[in-house]
Parts: sequence; structure tokens; C-alpha cells
Amino acid sequence: MKKVKFKGLTGLVEFDQNGMRTSVSLDILELKEEGLKKVGTWNQQAGAQFTTPYEAVLDDVMRQLKNRTLKIVTIINPPYTMLKEPADQLSGNDQFEGYCVDIIGEISRILGFKYHIHLVRDGAHGTKSELGEWNGMIRELIDKEADLVLADLTITYEREEAVDFTMPFMNLGISILFRKPMKKVPNLFSFLSPLSLEVWIYMATAYLGVSILLFMLARLTPYEWVPSHPCDQDSGVLENQFTLLNSFWFTIGSLMQQGTEVAPKAISTRVIATMWWFFTLIMISSYTANLAAFLTIQRLKSPIEGADDLAAQSSIQYGCLNSGSTKTFFKESNIFSYKKMWAVMQAQPSVFTESNQQGVERVLKGNYAYLMESTSIEYMTERNCELEQIGGLLDSKGYGIATPEGSPYRTPISNAILRLQEDGILHLLKEKWWSSNKEERCGQEEKKTSISTSELDLANVGGMFVVLLAGLGFACIISVIEFIWKTKRLSKNERDPVILEFMREVRNIICCGLSSYRAKISSE
Ligand code: GLU
Repeated sequence: MKKVKFKGLTGLVEFDQNGMRTSVSLDILELKEEGLKKVGTWNQQAGAQFTTPYEAVLDDVMRQLKNRTLKIVTIINPPYTMLKEPADQLSGNDQFEGYCVDIIGEISRILGFKYHIHLVRDGAHGTKSELGEWNGMIRELIDKEADLVLADLTITYEREEAVDFTMPFMNLGISILFRKPMKKVPNLFSFLSPLSLEVWIYMATAYLGVSILLFMLARLTPYEWVPSHPCDQDSGVLENQFTLLNSFWFTIGSLMQQGTEVAPKAISTRVIATMWWFFTLIMISSYTANLAAFLTIQRLKSPIEGADDLAAQSSIQYGCLNSGSTKTFFKESNIFSYKKMWAVMQAQPSVFTESNQQGVERVLKGNYAYLMESTSIEYMTERNCELEQIGGLLDSKGYGIATPEGSPYRTPISNAILRLQEDGILHLLKEKWWSSNKEERCGQEEKKTSISTSELDLANVGGMFVVLLAGLGFACIISVIEFIWKTKRLSKNERDPVILEFMREVRNIICCGLSSYRAKISSE
């Protein structure tokens, strides 16, 4: 028998050494509406091989879908799925409304199936325990209690191993929901805010510098020396109005936009005065403009600006949804600050919430930041002017519809999602469920907070100091020219060489000594 080999009704007949039949090839038949149809073959080496074209398989699945009522599990989380009011008078799918409910309505319209929505028993999205057990909607899918999960269910690697996902119908990332900062208590010294400390110090230095230089140049230039008695020009007594005190008085007078009775006479001192006036004009107008902005806008600054700030502090608590992908993200992250955040959250399990709504309520109470998915944050901030998103996205992912592993419905549903996306229906639904008249409600507040003012620092007004310095230099040169000019007009036997006279005068100015020069020029 073992040696027999012939072609029979079931194909080639031959046996191995144990008498078992080898080279068996079977046809795979499927019962269709028109009867049994060959859809593939099976043999020991290659296993099952389907010969039906992909389109035919898809057609078949679509045909099956038309006669089915799918069990869909979801979770209450606005605006994805919400209970319609009055909930007690409604039954079946009519009890629910929301973005996901509309999406499944559209998909069922395209694919022609019926569906029945029910809520997940344990109120969880689905996470894997240490023992490898799933909970929430994923669990119901694995246990075949549902055919689809349609909710804000994030596509994750861990979940993909247990169930299948369609292509994403929404893209998002984790971000931070936080309460907008309270209005700042007005500061008694807020008049100092328009300029930075650095600029205030520079201003004070410029004031001192200009006053002293004015004093020195006024002494140097002969044109500031005038007879002390205007009616007696020949008395020989000369006076200089720019004493040290008067020099300080003159500069402060113009800085305060008031002026003084002291007026420069020489070109050099007039140059200094002009530069100083120009400097004060620009500085005072910049100060006034910025002060007006500071007094009308109360600066609202959030104590945190991103996840790194959260990780670096301990006064503000932070948490996320229990049994969700956000928690898994932090648990499995290898990034230093997220790891640190996970350690802090884990040490204090009360920071985890059972629903997003609970998280939002905690944020509103204050001193708590909620790590939430960006689309949900957008929904909440649209509806509550007191809430805001802090920083950007910590990751990037999508929501998908979950099906049991190997489900034939995955591809047609993915195709339907693609169609909804291309037709712009997903966008319209997003608009429908997310947008609100936020502009109207929060408009005023938004405007106030969006205009930000900041103190003027050296980069803004530094140019004015340069102009002032250049002007002072110019005034020094003129003052020296004036001195030389006047000295040269004295006869040679009345004076020493110009350079000696100059050095002597400078020494006199510095040491506040009596000017010998004063007598000479008066006699000229
Ligand atoms: N979308 C999440 C999930 O699928 C739930 C929300 C969250 O974890 O922030 O588990």
C-alpha cells in the first residue's frame, strides 16, 4: 500500500512511511447566496491560500454588514458621547448624542449596517494591568461583548496588540489644562515698571554724568563767564552760573519737563543742553507711552508655561485620567521630565481622576493642572473662559474605532472614515460639536490678556544713550575750541602757552580752585 501512487478522485494519492497520506490538497469552499463557491486551497506545506480577489472579499464583507446589527460600546465624555436630555424618556440609540454618535451614524449610512450603542460597564477606556488583564471598553471588545468601540479611544501600541484599529478619525496630542491666572494685585510701585531696572540705572548714571560734564565745560568755556554786575562790565569780577548745584538743577529740570531759570550761553554748553533735552524727550515719551499700557493692562502671567515647568515645581499638583492612554504615556515615557512627573503622580494617586469632567472641576478649584488630550482641552476652553491650554503638545496620536482582532469589518470602516474625511464631513462635525460663541463671551477678557506689555529694556532705548554720549563728546570738543579761541585773543605776555593755560584751567576745575583765567579774560 505504502508504495502505491496514483491519481484518484481527491488528487494524487501517496503515503509516507507511517502510512499517512501525503501531498493532500484541499479546496476551500464558502457558502454564498448562489451556493458553495471555491475561495481557495489548502495543502500541508503552504497552508490556506485564498484565491478570491480582494474586492470580492470586501464585497462579501459589505454584504454581510448590511444584514447585521453591530454592538457598539462607548463612554460618556463630552463632546464625543453625551446623554441626551431628557435621558429618562429616551431609549436605545436615541439616548446618546455627540461627535462619535454622529460619526457612527454617517458610517452606518455608508455601509448600511444597523447598530446598538451601550455604555461601558466599568466607565474606563481601557488599560492593561500588571497581570496583563485589560479593563474598560477594550475588555468588552476582547470578550466579544461588543463589535466596535467608538469613543475618544487613542490608538496605542499596547492596545493594537490586543485589538485592531481603523484609521484615525481625529488627530491630537497630550497637553496641559490650567486655570487662567487671577488678576494681579496692583503694585504700589507699578510706575517703575515701564522701564527695566537696567535702564533706570543707566538713566541715573546719565543724569549724574551730564550734570558733572555740564559743570566742567561751563567752567572751561570762557563764554559762560560773565560780569557779576551787568551794569558794571569792567568790574573785573566774573561769575559762572553753572555751579555744581545749578548744573544738577538744570538737568533735573529738563528731565522733569519743567525747565529752570539757568540758561546756557556758550555753544558747548548749549550743545550739551540740546542733547540732554533730546534724550529726555525720547525717554519721557517712551516712558509715558509704556506707563499708559502698564496701568490699563493688568499683566496676567501663568506660573507655568509648559510640562517642564510643571515637572520642576512642587506647589501645583497635576494629574490625568485613570485607565487612559495619557496615564500609560507617562508611565512608559523615557523622557526625563515626564518620568519625573510620573514618579510624582504615582506617589500621590489622588491626582488621578475617574473622568475628564472631574479633572476640569479640580482645575477650576485652582492649584491643579490636568494633563488632557488637546481636542478635549479645546472643547473645555471654548466653553469656559477661566480655562486655558498651557504649552504645546507632548506627543502626537489619533483616535480610532477599535474592532476585535482579525475583524473583517475593519477595512470597510476605515474606508468609510476616509470617505468622510475627504468629503469634509469629519471637519463639519468637529465644527458642530466644538465651536461655541466664545468670542462673544470671553472676547473682552481675551483681548485684555492677549495684548502683552513688557518693560522697555536697553535694547529698546539703548540708541538714545549712544546719541547722548556722542552729543557730550561734541560739546567737549566745542568747549576746547572756545577756550583756545578766547585764549589766543589775549596778548602773549598776558598768558602762558595755550596748552599750559588749558592744563591749569582743567586742574582748577577738578580741584574746584580759583580760576586765574577768569581775571585775564575779563581784562581783555
Ligand atoms: N483617549 C484616552 C484613551 O483612549 C482617554 C483620555 C486620556 O487618557 O486622557 O484612553
